[in-house]
Amino acid sequence: MRTPPVALTVAGSDSGGGAGIQADLATFAALGVHGASAVTAVTVQDTRGVHAIHPVPSDVVVQQVAVVVSDLAPRATKTGMLGDAATASALAILAADGLLPRLVVDPVLVSTSGHALATHDVLAVMRDDLLPHAAVITPNTDEAAALLGCSPAASLRDQTDQARRLLELGCAAAVVTGGVDAGARLDVLATPTDVQVMAGPGIDTRNDHGTGCTFAAAVAAGLAHGLTVDRAVTAARAFVRAALTESVQWRLGRGRGPVSH
Ligand code: PLP
Repeated sequence: MRTPPVALTVAGSDSGGGAGIQADLATFAALGVHGASAVTAVTVQDTRGVHAIHPVPSDVVVQQVAVVVSDLAPRATKTGMLGDAATASALAILAADGLLPRLVVDPVLVSTSGHALATHDVLAVMRDDLLPHAAVITPNTDEAAALLGCSPAASLRDQTDQARRLLELGCAAAVVTGGVDAGARLDVLATPTDVQVMAGPGIDTRNDHGTGCTFAAAVAAGLAHGLTVDRAVTAARAFVRAALTESVQWRLGRGRGPVSH
């Protein structure tokens, strides 16, 4: 008898299967973790963009989390698209009650195609009430700027500064992804004791839809396996790089295709 590690994703559904819940579950499966899910919103979406969003009522999100937590005891949790402030608040209360262990918060605000995935009031609730319970947060440089109320990072120094300042919001670690410098892709991980710059060559692909979700889910999978945040982030970067490389040649849909899993 063996109990596989379990991770819970709380996120939006992407009908195109590239991002959100679908990317998270595919990532969990690829990394040997049983994935449970609480759906926060149903998006009508394909590779070309988000066509409509239908939020799930916050009490229904809470019910999904509650039954999964009591029955399957996830070792790690990941939040992605929360949709509205009521859901963000409800999750913050669950986190404060200790029901969202090893919490990875991916502060999803806007899709790469430019569609708002959260109402304007989600940002403050996420920043003030949810982030203080996070083991790690995974904003890209734009999301980091939104959380900090500053302008987007123009250099590695800005990105490093963002990662450090995000710790002041109360999360245990912050990894700011998506910096670019001389063709290299840069992610910066800040913990209270250390700041690490992780660099790799850029991967030129149109198939990058769902990259952020995949990265955060891979971090949660690592935490579910018992890795430290540091190791989970390193492993997640390698996973995402392999997924992007794998899907470079894909033709899937008419827009930005998904990363492979
Ligand atoms: N749709 C859903 C449900 C998501 O959760 C996300 C990202 O987190 C996206 C779309 C956006 O993905 P991308 O920015 O890679 O297009």
